[in-house]
Order: sequence, then C-alpha cells, then structure tokens
Amino acid sequence: MRFNSKFEYKNYLGNQRIAIIQKAHHKTHTLIQFINNELIDKKIIEWNNEYTSDIRDPYSEDNIRKLLINYNIKASDADLRRILKHSLVTRSLTSEAEALKVIRNVSEDLTRLEVERIVKNLDYAENVLANADVQINKYKSLIEKLPRHTSRKEILEKCITEDKPLPSNRRQALLERALERGSNYKGRQYTYKELNQLSRDLERYKTHRLDYETARLENIQADREGYGVINEEKSWIWSTLEKTRHQGMDGETVPFTAKFEVVNEVTGDVDYLLFPGDVTNDHNNCSNICNCGCTYEIIKA
Ligand SMILES: [Zn+2]
Repeated sequence: MRFNSKFEYKNYLGNQRIAIIQKAHHKTHTLIQFINNELIDKKIIEWNNEYTSDIRDPYSEDNIRKLLINYNIKASDADLRRILKHSLVTRSLTSEAEALKVIRNVSEDLTRLEVERIVKNLDYAENVLANADVQINKYKSLIEKLPRHTSRKEILEKCITEDKPLPSNRRQALLERALERGSNYKGRQYTYKELNQLSRDLERYKTHRLDYETARLENIQADREGYGVINEEKSWIWSTLEKTRHQGMDGETVPFTAKFEVVNEVTGDVDYLLFPGDVTNDHNNCSNICNCGCTYEIIKA
C-alpha cells in the first residue's frame, strides 16, 4: 500500500484501528461467561453428593485454564490477523513465527486473568453453600428459566433460606482444600466478581496490546532489513467520556517501548503502563485500568 504523506498514512492506520475495535465484539467473552456459570451450577447442584465417580477436580485452576485457552487463542489469532493485514509487516516465515508467539502470549495473559476471576467466583459459591441454607431445587429451576448469562450471584441469593452454622467435618474439609490451594479459608472475604465488566476491559486491553505488538513486529522487521525504527513514540489519548481520572494524561508522549506514568487524578494511585488498560502492569487493584476508556496512538518516525 502506498501513501503520499506521513499524515495520510497515520490517518489510514487510525481509521483501521477504530474499525478493528468495532469489529472486536465476537463471542469469546460470552462463552467465558457461560463457562463460569456452568461451573458454578455444577458445583451447587453436586454440593450434596457425597460420592462422585469423577476423580479430576473440574474446578481446579489448571482444568479451567484448559477450557479457556483455546477460545482465547482462536480470538487473538483472528484479531491479530485482521490488524496485520493493514500493517507494514510482510508475510514471511519469520514474521509468521513471531505472530504465533504474540498470539500465545496474549492468550495466556487473558486466560490467566479470566481463570483468576472464575476461581474467585467458585470460592464465593462454595462459601455461600458452606455458610447458608441454599435451596438447591429452587436454584435448579431458576437456572432453567432464566437466560444463560444471568448472574449466578443473583440466583444464588434468591435461594438462600437462612444462615446456618457449618458442620465441623465440612469446615475441616474446606479448610484443608483451601490450604492445599495455598489460600487461607478462615477469615477470608469472598465476593462474587461479575465477568461482564472484566470482559469489556479485557477486550480493550487485547486491542491495545495487539496494536502494540504489531508495531513492535514492524520495528523488528525494519531492523532486520536495515532500516531505522518505524514506530518511535506513542501518545495517550484521554477519553472525554471519563470525566476525572486521566484528563492530565491527554497528549502525554513517551518512547514506543517505554511505560506511561499514569496517575489516577481522584485517588492519586500511580501505575506504569505500556498503554491504556494495560492490566498486566496493574499494581493498584484496577484503579487506573477498570472502566478506562482512554486509547493511544502510535507515532511513526
Ligand atoms: Zn482512562
């Protein structure tokens, strides 16, 4: 593809980006919500079964990870291919191998965050079952009647008749399992983490990350071919919808591989992020990440 000026080229890429974000609403996160709900349903329905023939623990992090990783690989692959089509990366065995590595890494990061949340939700359900009287039959009939994506927290709360003390043998078993997993059961706070908002944040993260990785691949290729760096800097673009948090970040420009120093203007929390929504570099419990609508622009040399 040929461009008459740097400006024309930048404009072209900018428009592509917007088209990509709009197209990115595929079904992966709906699927992940369903997996979360199905695991919780299974756990609740089987709660009173003393004997189970299944030796594998379907709720272990490792097994949930196995369920999710392929969906994420497929989605990341489709998204990256779409971005690469409009990039300066030429198709070659080397760039193909590099693209596969990118897909792997991005999918693994997304999966880790999703598994973490699903495990927390299972812990929450287990805690409710252990500490309250849950009408399992009512739960069963509600999940059949309500849409598949309905929050399990909402349904579970409708089925609680009363708080009950936990029988000591059950508490002991739970404690042992929690210790096995490396967590402390006693005194731990359990909250149900809805997946919808996380999915939206992760979708944005994925688009920003894949943009970043594509620009990185362009730089690697340019270097290999003996040219200078193509993508030199990046600028933060503040979302005007977000009234308070990142207004001061607008137009902030740093070298392409550097991190932005991001200050939450409400809380004062500081994070060092590669781009807006960079959840893998979050150190303040989502303070600068969750619900952030900011974007960024990669600046060509
Ligand atoms: Zn923001």
